[in-house]
Amino acid sequence: MFTKKNKKTPAEILDIYKIPREKHSISRKDIDENALKVLYRLHNAGFRALLVGGGVRDLLLGIKPKDFDITTNATPEEVKDLFRNCRLIGRRFRLAHILFGREVIEVATFRGHHDDDDGQDAQKVKQSKGGMLLRDNVYGSLEEDAERRDFTVNALYYDIADFAIYDFCNGMQDLAERKLTLIGDPEVRYREDPVRMMRAIRFAAKLNLTISDSCAEPIRRLAPLLQDIPAARHFDEVIKLLLSGQGLATYRLLKEYKLLQVLFPILFKDGEDDKANAIIEQALIDTDARIAQGKRVTPAYVYAIMLWYPLEQRAQEMSFESGMEYHDAFLLAMNEVLSIQVKTIAIPKRFTAAIRDIWILQLRLPRFGGKRAQRVHQHIKFRAAFDFLSLRAKVERSKELAELTAWWQEYQTHNKLPEHSYSYKTTNKAIEKKPEAAKPYKKRRYSGSKRTATAVSSDD
Ligand code: ATP
Ligand code: MG
Repeated sequence: MFTKKNKKTPAEILDIYKIPREKHSISRKDIDENALKVLYRLHNAGFRALLVGGGVRDLLLGIKPKDFDITTNATPEEVKDLFRNCRLIGRRFRLAHILFGREVIEVATFRGHHDDDDGQDAQKVKQSKGGMLLRDNVYGSLEEDAERRDFTVNALYYDIADFAIYDFCNGMQDLAERKLTLIGDPEVRYREDPVRMMRAIRFAAKLNLTISDSCAEPIRRLAPLLQDIPAARHFDEVIKLLLSGQGLATYRLLKEYKLLQVLFPILFKDGEDDKANAIIEQALIDTDARIAQGKRVTPAYVYAIMLWYPLEQRAQEMSFESGMEYHDAFLLAMNEVLSIQVKTIAIPKRFTAAIRDIWILQLRLPRFGGKRAQRVHQHIKFRAAFDFLSLRAKVERSKELAELTAWWQEYQTHNKLPEHSYSYKTTNKAIEKKPEAAKPYKKRRYSGSKRTATAVSSDD
């Protein structure tokens, strides 16, 4: 029996998990100025205010954090009252966003434990039959908040009151061992929110952490649960996965853990395809390099590449089955492939339009007679389509595509039709020559197409 004397006060309990300032490496100067403003405003208004998640984790790993997440005992409404530049978002998980120009600081109220969805928390919590959390808005204490987070390394808190770190879930040790461990029972936590499986892959790739055995084991088995996640949420998550600078490593892990096949059901549906794999890997290597150089990347390009070979195969099948012109079959296949894909990942219209453009330009690039070259070149997606073409040439080891790439390269360099375009007589030697001597490109003959390959010399 506890006597009143040896019963610990909440403050004493918190002390057990506290790492004082002098025993950790996080300094205020590493923290984003706007995040500090938010932390201090909450603190000065009498609320608890702590940095949590990637901000703390990455600083401890010596990495520049992508963003700074804050947690507090203030309710979202109380946060809103404190900040003019605040808007409340989310139904499933209610949050405050504090806006500083383009920067957003996310403030979440401590989450707490809840009874089942028939109990008094029914308004605030909703769970599906399979255990998936559809709503999670029961508020609680700091310690409870830690237990509701996903991985131990994401449940470290930096307290603005005394600059100490709180570690309730052994996150510091896992960080030191570079181990990714879910808090609680892995299967229950994945069922509650299957996106945690994707997050496991993302953090493993991004931070070079090893997924602990108990957290790795259920992933392949539970991968189909990703189908239950709203397609709109998947769009954001997939961007974080593939367009955050570690796209290649992430892609390989997604494939290994069978999540890729759920997210992209038409990719590799008849088993892994070397050509598709090679082009995706190369595109992600290029994308990672662009991100490292601070260049812009677009999801449309990556999606166009990921779905290209399934699209080509489908177009050929359709053309073969119905006797349709390849070009027409290609347009139909494009619709089919995209309509299947958006069921799992809700790609916004502006991106599907760009994907279509990049694909259609693959058919237009070989047909550059007369004014066509100029029109194709002026197309807003020309550059993406050209990069795509050169990747195809590389992956397919195709002389024909290599010549076409060289032709367009020369066109771009001189911004005019290569002079030899219409005078060249077809010989195989052309490909060994420098671009200025390259032969005019012939319209590609796609298998399954009824069209014959003819040198393009007519105007539009
Ligand atoms: P990043 O560097 O990508 O921002 P992050 O860990 O900060 O990584 P966020 O998506 O910004 O990830 O989420 C902030 C924190 O919120 C996480 O560190 C984690 O503690 C918690 N969190 C986010 N998503 C979940 C989830 N699905 N289940 C449980 N906790 C989550
Ligand atoms: Mg974050």
